[in-house]
Amino acid sequence: MRSTMQDVPLSVATIVRHGTTVHGSGEVLTCTEEGARSATYAEVGRRAAQLAGALRGLGVQGDDRVATFMWNNQEHLEAYLAVPSMGAVLHTLNIRLFPDQVIYIANHAEDKVVLVDGSLLPLLAKMLPELSTVDHVVVNGPGDTSLITGGRAQVHSWQELIAGQPEAVDWVEVDERDAAAMCYTSGTTGGPKGVAYSHRSIYLHSMQICMREGFGLSSADRALAVVPMFHAMAWGLPYAALMVGASLHLPDRFLAPEPLARFISEERPTFAAAVPTVWTGLLAHLDATPSDMTSLREVVVGGSACPPALMQAFEQRHGVRITHAWGMTETSPLGSVAQPPPGLSAEQEWPYRVSQGLLPAGVTGRLVGPDGTRLPHDGTSVGELEVRGPWVTASYYRDDDPEKFHDGWLRTGDVGSLTPDGYLTLTDRSKDVIKSGGEWISSVELENHLMGHPAVAEASVVGVPDDKWGERPLATVVVREGATVSAEELRAFLAGLVAGWQVPERWAFIAEVPKTSVGKFDKKVLRKQYAEGSLEVTRLS
Ligand code: AMP
Repeated sequence: MRSTMQDVPLSVATIVRHGTTVHGSGEVLTCTEEGARSATYAEVGRRAAQLAGALRGLGVQGDDRVATFMWNNQEHLEAYLAVPSMGAVLHTLNIRLFPDQVIYIANHAEDKVVLVDGSLLPLLAKMLPELSTVDHVVVNGPGDTSLITGGRAQVHSWQELIAGQPEAVDWVEVDERDAAAMCYTSGTTGGPKGVAYSHRSIYLHSMQICMREGFGLSSADRALAVVPMFHAMAWGLPYAALMVGASLHLPDRFLAPEPLARFISEERPTFAAAVPTVWTGLLAHLDATPSDMTSLREVVVGGSACPPALMQAFEQRHGVRITHAWGMTETSPLGSVAQPPPGLSAEQEWPYRVSQGLLPAGVTGRLVGPDGTRLPHDGTSVGELEVRGPWVTASYYRDDDPEKFHDGWLRTGDVGSLTPDGYLTLTDRSKDVIKSGGEWISSVELENHLMGHPAVAEASVVGVPDDKWGERPLATVVVREGATVSAEELRAFLAGLVAGWQVPERWAFIAEVPKTSVGKFDKKVLRKQYAEGSLEVTRLS
C-alpha cells in the first residue's frame, strides 16, 4: 500500500522561506574590526533573493556551480541561502588549501562563478588564470580588483550587482535528490574528492542538528560557527539555525584567540563549534587573560579527537561544557555526538562524554575486521567503522573510489569500537594506527594522555619505521609557555597510564604541531619531517 502522505520535496528553499519569515527577527552577527555588524534573517533573506537575481543575470542556470571563497560572514550565509534555492549548486572552496588543490577542485567541479571576500582577492587572483570554467568573479566588500590581471572571468562588485534586484523571488521547485551544495575532501589516494549534498540530505541533517542527540539547537540559541563555512558546511549550523530560528554569530577572519574571546564575551553566544586546536589556543589565552565565557551552554568539538584534558580544563577553569562529536565531509558531517544518556552522575557520564558519541537513528554503523568480517558491537572488538544513512555519501562526484565503499556502506577509514547501546570510540585513523611488533598502538590514546600533562600544550604521535618492531611511536610535544618538561619525565608519566611497550622511545620537542587546512594535526607533515631528518629527536633507551 502506498502512503496517503503528500510528497512535498525536502528542500533548502523550504528552510530559507521558513527561516527568513517565521524567524525573520533572528539575528546574524558578523565580526568586524569595529565590533559586530548585525542583520536580521528577514534582511538576509531579501539580500539572498537579490543575489539570486544577480546570479541569474550573470547567466547562472540549472545546476551551474557557484563557488564561494569566503570567510564566515553574512554574505557567505546569503550565498548559502540563494544558490541552492535557485536550483544551482553551492560549492564552498577551502581558502586554506594549496593553490594547486583549489585550482584542481574548482576545475573539477566546473565552477562558473566565484563569490569572493575582498580580503581574499590577493589569494584568488593568483589562481584565477588557471580556473578554466569561471566566467564571473563577484567581490564582497573592498578589495583590490587591479590584482586580477589574467583569466577569462569578468569581475563585479557584489553590492553593485545586487542593487536594484527584486527583494523577493519564487524559489525553484527542485527534486529533493538533486545536489544543493558540494564540498571536497582530500582522499587517501589520488586528488581531493567531491561530495555533493542533496536538498533532502541537508534538510534531514539540519533536523538532526536540532535534536538533543545532535546539538540540540533551538530558537533560544545564539550559535557561533567558528568552524569554517568551507569545512563540511560549517557542520550544518547555518541551515539548522534558520530552521529553528537560532541566531548565528560569524567570526569572519577574526579567528585568533584574543578576538574570538572578545567576540564571545561581548556577543554572548550560547553555543559554539570548532576543531580541538581552536579550543586549545583559546584555553591558553583564557588562562592568561580570563574573559566571560558563561553565556556558552555547550561547545561542540569534533573534526579530530578531543583530548579529555581539554574538556576538563574548560569545564573546571572556565565553566564551559564541551561535547565531543565525530563526523566527516562524507557524512554531512554529523556522524555521532557524545550526549550521555540522561539521569547519570557526572562521574557516570564521563566515559560516554569522552567517547566519539552516539550514532543517531539516521546513521547506522558497523565494524568490519581486516578480512572483511563483521565484528560484534560489544565495546571491545576493534575494527574499521562503516556507516550508511540518508546524509552519508554513496559515491564521490565524478570520481570512482571503489575502495571507499563496501556493499552500499561508506568505509570511514576510522578504527574503533561500538557499544551495544550505540556509542562509538575511535582509536585511530586506519592509516595512523601504529603497528608495533604485531600489536596495535593507538596514537590518539597516547596523545590524549600527553595532553593531560600540565606542561604539555599539544602533542601528536605518529608511527615511524623501526628495525626491530616494524613501527614505533614518535611523540612530538609542544611545551606550554612558561613550563619545562623533559622526555624522561613524560616517559615516566606515560608509563603510569599505558602498557610499558606502548610508551615511545622517540621524542621531539617542537614549536607547533603542523596543522591541515581545517586546523587538524597534520601527521603526514610530521612523518615527512621525521623521514627527512628535520626533527630533532631524542631517543631514550
Ligand atoms: P574531514 O572530512 O576533513 O572533516 O575529516 C573526517 C575525519 O576526521 C574522520 O574520518 C576522522 O578521522 C576525523 N575525525 C572527525 N571527528 C573526530 C573525532 N571526534 N575523533 C577522532 N577523529 C575524528
